[in-house]
Amino acid sequence: MVEFSIAQERKIVSAIPGPKSKELQARRLKAVSHGVGAALPIYIEKANGAIVVDVDGNHFIDLGSGIGVVSIGHTNQGVIDAVSHQVGQLTHTLFTVTPYEQYVEVCELLNKHTPGDFEKRSALFNSGSEAVENAVKLARKFTKRGEIAVFDHGYHGRTNLTMAMNFKAMPYGSGFGPFAPGVTHVPMSYPFRDPEGLTGPEAAARAINYMDKRIGAENLAAIVIEPIQGEGGFIVPAPGFLTELANWAKANGIVVIADEVQAGIARTGQWFASEYEPTFVPDLVTIAKGIAGGMVLSAVTGRADIMDASHPGGIGGTFGGNPVSAAAAVSVLKQIEAGGVLENAQRIEKTLKTRLAELATKYPVIGEVRGRGAMVAIEFVEAGTRNPNKTAVDKLVAHCHQNGVLVLNAGTHYNVIRFLPPLVISDELLNDALDVLEAGLAAL
Ligand SMILES: *Cc1c(COP(=O)(O)O)cnc(C)c1O
Repeated sequence: MVEFSIAQERKIVSAIPGPKSKELQARRLKAVSHGVGAALPIYIEKANGAIVVDVDGNHFIDLGSGIGVVSIGHTNQGVIDAVSHQVGQLTHTLFTVTPYEQYVEVCELLNKHTPGDFEKRSALFNSGSEAVENAVKLARKFTKRGEIAVFDHGYHGRTNLTMAMNFKAMPYGSGFGPFAPGVTHVPMSYPFRDPEGLTGPEAAARAINYMDKRIGAENLAAIVIEPIQGEGGFIVPAPGFLTELANWAKANGIVVIADEVQAGIARTGQWFASEYEPTFVPDLVTIAKGIAGGMVLSAVTGRADIMDASHPGGIGGTFGGNPVSAAAAVSVLKQIEAGGVLENAQRIEKTLKTRLAELATKYPVIGEVRGRGAMVAIEFVEAGTRNPNKTAVDKLVAHCHQNGVLVLNAGTHYNVIRFLPPLVISDELLNDALDVLEAGLAAL
């Protein structure tokens, strides 16, 4: 049993945002670039488990985990201990100058737990975007080809290359181009909205035909795909889609990169979301958000021959695999190994899906409930149609925030609410949050 330092209860004691948050918001507007977004201007003082506490003393149920980062729970004791110890021992050398054990240990653990039973290597970086960029670099170096394929509704980051890889221009890329060349967008399998109603293999054939004609298999270094799309609205491709793509890639010497930045590290109830389709084994996996309990770390893990394709010094970076972040990651990965974390994500899936399925029968604005593990979303529509209903999402998100529940929106049409709770959340707390959501639905 996890012991919590903050009571796992929702409690609203001021207006939202409260007076202290308002004061900070006024300072922020003068000091912080307005290009940095903010979903809700409440300023957080502390957090534990699945509860965050703002500067006005309000306790919120966190159903976002900082976008799937504190999956292990806010201020997890194992992470606190690992970080506290490490920060007094060593905070930086630069691994490429003088290495240290924690970096190696993270790589060993990732090699062990990522999909595929081939020989593997890993490399560590700072952000999800950076992991994706490095995976693409390695695939290009390995294949000696330049082109990459990405999927509609996908999201891969905010650097120049990854902006080119995103589906949505707004808000990620608009006005920030021109972007890196060599990126082609390919039709995804999106069962709820697929205009042709294709099965997984049919949708794969459509994508393959597109890549073949538009790029040419012989020019393609890599296919980069989220096994469950995150920002796109937790789109789970139809069964067989990923496998067919990977089989075609394999036959044509194309590297398959699974972007598991959001879905990886126990989030979906498996170590990696790719495992839900066991015949889909990516060559490389990109990892970030949930890996280090809120500390800054990302990774690329995969086939040793691809990971070793770079000349020494070709990949790296000043802060990548920082000792304190690496120590936090070792703690997170060992806690998952020890058991209970994957099971928690599976429990959360049951609780969420059971309750949301009930709501779907009552409220016709719910178009679809989907996702895996503790990565579940509702896509909202105008009742009786499949037209995206962003208005309902905006109202519900605001209602939840006002009542002490932090939820995030998502989706190409902003018509999705996504749930990414810390995996330590109890069913009781989750149901309390869903009561709030239901009250919001009833009030629509
Ligand atoms: C968040 C995310 C990224 C980018 O990660 P950053 O750490 O924000 O750079 C890349 N891919 C996916 C699937 C993501 O969810």
